[in-house]
Amino acid sequence: MLARMDSSRVAEDFYRAHPDWMALQQSGEPYQVAERYITCVNSAYYDEYLPNIFQEIIERSHPEGFGDNSWSGGLNRNQICYCDNCARKFRERTGQSLPKQKDWNDSVYRKWIEWNYARRMELWDNNTRVTQESGGPHCLWLGMNSGSVTYQSLVFRDFHTPPSSLRNALSLEVDQHWARHWQLIKVMGLPCGYTYYDRSYRRITKVI
Ligand SMILES: [Zn+2]
Repeated sequence: MLARMDSSRVAEDFYRAHPDWMALQQSGEPYQVAERYITCVNSAYYDEYLPNIFQEIIERSHPEGFGDNSWSGGLNRNQICYCDNCARKFRERTGQSLPKQKDWNDSVYRKWIEWNYARRMELWDNNTRVTQESGGPHCLWLGMNSGSVTYQSLVFRDFHTPPSSLRNALSLEVDQHWARHWQLIKVMGLPCGYTYYDRSYRRITKVI
């Protein structure tokens, strides 16, 4: 049994308590989806708050692992976060200010893309280290992924450089449209966790 999470968005009371953990637009306004606020992957929400949640879930419920559907943050490559953490960390890494807009002809924007991919891989390894330390060597943290490479790229999920913790496990999200992709993975003989929807559109997650 996996502990299933959706970690990227929080409610307004959480936003009020930790505004410095939120992703910000260039105007300084927080990024929102409906009434939820999007957290920034470069904030302490990901480095401190979520690891504590993993440990709490392991102590209370002893899951065999974790699956997170929105693990890569909630923003995409068209949405630059201008929070203080992003500005500081990007300058430390590149010596430059955050790009002002999406522009593939701008070398700073391209560096920002690479920097975002690297952060997601870093988070994957950090999360797995925490879940294995608390839940045992088989308690993997698995980011759930789409079968669509274009969508994966849009949200900084790198299929070319699997995180080191993903040596023998692959988490894959499939629905009816991606059944063929799932078959391909099965043929490849990879141990795999996957999610699909049944005919009543109930969400079902399995790990083999
Ligand atoms: Zn940020």
